[in-house]
Amino acid sequence: MVKSDEEWRSQLGPERFEVLRRAGTERPWSGEHVTNHADGTYRCAGCGNVLFASGTKFDSPCGWPSFTEPAVADAVLAVEDRSHGMVRTEVRCRRCGGHLGHVFDDGPGPTGQRWCINSLSLDFGPFALG
Ligand code: FE
Repeated sequence: MVKSDEEWRSQLGPERFEVLRRAGTERPWSGEHVTNHADGTYRCAGCGNVLFASGTKFDSPCGWPSFTEPAVADAVLAVEDRSHGMVRTEVRCRRCGGHLGHVFDDGPGPTGQRWCINSLSLDFGPFALG
C-alpha cells in the first residue's frame, strides 16, 4: 500500500497522521480505547487490518491500550527503534506500515508481553474476528 503523505493526511486527519505516519505518541490516558472493556476487534485506523482482540486486552498503568498479543501474528511487524536514547521494539501494521506503538517484555500472562498501542492507531468495532 503506497500513498503519499498528502493522501494519508487527508484520509487520517492531523492527529492520526502524526501517530500512524510520523511515529508520534498520543498523551497517556488521552486515547478513546484505553479504558474500553467491550468485546470486539481492534483494526488498523489506516487500512482496516485486524490487529488486536478484546480478549487479550488488559488494564495497564501506562495509559495506553495494552494487549498480551496480536490477534493475528503476522498482521504486525516488530522493528528495532533506537529513538529518544532508548532501545525499544516498535510495532507497525504489516499491511500499511502505519506506526502502532511498542511492545515490551513486562506484560502479564503466558506471553509476558505488553503490546502498548496508541488509541489513535486503532478503530474498535464490536464485531468478531474476520
Ligand atoms: Fe494498517
